[in-house]
Amino acid sequence: MSCNDQSLLQGTHDFLAELPVIQLDGISLRYSQAAADIQALEGISLELTGDDFVCVLGPSGCGKSSLLNIIAGYLKPTTGTITVDGKIHSKPDPQVGVVFQHPNLFPWLSIEKNIEFGLKMKQVGKEKRKELVEHYLQLVGLEGFAKFLPFQLSGGMKQRAAIARTLATDPRMILLDEPFSALDAFTRETMQKNLYDIWQKTRKCLLFITHDVDEALLLARRIIIMHPNPGRIVKDFPNPLLRRPEHSFSRLRSSKEFNDMRQYLIGQIHS
Ligand code: ADP
Ligand code: MG
Repeated sequence: MSCNDQSLLQGTHDFLAELPVIQLDGISLRYSQAAADIQALEGISLELTGDDFVCVLGPSGCGKSSLLNIIAGYLKPTTGTITVDGKIHSKPDPQVGVVFQHPNLFPWLSIEKNIEFGLKMKQVGKEKRKELVEHYLQLVGLEGFAKFLPFQLSGGMKQRAAIARTLATDPRMILLDEPFSALDAFTRETMQKNLYDIWQKTRKCLLFITHDVDEALLLARRIIIMHPNPGRIVKDFPNPLLRRPEHSFSRLRSSKEFNDMRQYLIGQIHS
C-alpha cells in the first residue's frame, strides 16, 4: 500500500469517526401504571458519533436504564425516533450491543462458546468464528480460559467475557448499564482500565451508564448528566480531563483538577 493510500484511509477513518452512529430525536417515555403514570423521560435528543465514549451520569431513578432500554430497542418510546446509521431503529438489533450489570452468559456454555454464540447467529463461517473468538479472548485477557464454564470465573472475568461476546459481533455501538457496579472496588478499577484499553484499541462507540462520578471522569470523553422527574438531559460536555496515555488512573485521581471536577459534577447531579 502506498503512502498516499495510507493517508487516504487515515482520512477516511477520521471522517467515519465523526459521522453520527445513532440519533435520538425528541424521545419521551411514560410508564402507565394503575396507581399513577410516571414520566420517565422527556425531550431527549442526542447524537453519538463513531468513536464516542460517553458516560451518562445521574442519580438513581433519573431514567438512565429506561434510556438505555429504549436505545437497545427493548422499550418503545412514547414519542420520538431513533435512527442508527440513518435508518429507523425500533427493535433489538445486532448493530446495538448491550452489556448489563450482571453478565448474562449462558451458564452451560464454555467461555469460547458463549463468545461464539452471536457469531453463529450471524452465520459467520467456522474458521472465521475461531479466529474472532481467539482475537476477542485475547483482547479481554481471557485467552487461558476458553474452555472454562462461567461459574468457574470471577465476577470481573465473567464481565470481560460478556464484553468480548458483545464486541465479537462487531456492533456499531455498545450500551453498558452500570457494568462494574456489582464488583468489588479493586476489580472495578482493573475493569475500568481494561475497558479504557479496549476502547482505545477498538474505538467503538460506547454509551456507558453509571452513577459513579469518578468512573465517568476516568473513562469518558464526553459526559452527560441527567436529572429526574421527568428524566432529562441537563448537561452534555466533553470531559475536560480527557485522558492522555501518560495519565495513569492513580495520577489523575490525585490531581487537583480531578478533585475540582468531582466536586463540580456532584454539585451538578444534585442541583
Ligand atoms: P435509573 O436507571 O436512572 O435508576 P430508571 O430508568 O430505572 O432510572 O427509572 C426511571 C423512573 O421510571 C423511576 O421513577 C422508576 O421508578 C420508573 N420505572 C422504571 N422502570 C419502570 C417500569 N417497568 N414500570 C414503571 N415504572 C418504571
Ligand atoms: Mg438503572
